[in-house]
Amino acid sequence: MLHISRSLTKLLGELKKLPSVGDKTALRLAFHLLKSPENLSALAESLLEVRDGVRFCSTCFGITESDPCHLCTTPRDDASICVVEEPQDILAMERCQAFKGRYHVLHGALSPLNGVTPGQLRIAELLQRLEKGLVKEVLLATNFTVEGEATALYLTRLIKPLSIKVTRLAHGIPIGSDLEYVDAATVQRAVEGRSEL
Ligand code: ZN
Repeated sequence: MLHISRSLTKLLGELKKLPSVGDKTALRLAFHLLKSPENLSALAESLLEVRDGVRFCSTCFGITESDPCHLCTTPRDDASICVVEEPQDILAMERCQAFKGRYHVLHGALSPLNGVTPGQLRIAELLQRLEKGLVKEVLLATNFTVEGEATALYLTRLIKPLSIKVTRLAHGIPIGSDLEYVDAATVQRAVEGRSEL
């Protein structure tokens, strides 16, 4: 077993908490950072800046430095809301420029196997926004995974009785894929070809 310093062991432990970082990648990243003290300081500073400056918008639950965020305050179509799983999915939708309404981030998807229940997602907050009566269409842009589809189905059952049109991104987005990794042209086609549920 490699004998390394306590602080380096701690850094490796933190790096391994990141998605898809295992032992080898953590070591590679840590040693890369150690080679350049400037990079290490810049990374440490930007981590602190993000910790202190970035928060979730209290309306849409996207990431923002000012609350409410610019997507909630700039002039956009108030009659439609696009529901996504994660804040980064908003970026995927905005890249394709086909959607002009507001957003709502659930912060996850229903997954009974992993113990994710409706109460753990921002569903109650979504319903509160819909109660104001401005919204005519909810576009469900949850991922095309088992969890994303189950969440879309669950939301459809909740929203349809409110006489609000519920639509889903058209297929064409590969089954099993996360929205954030789909190219902009494909997302644009999926938005334009959305179908009512
Ligand atoms: Zn917002």
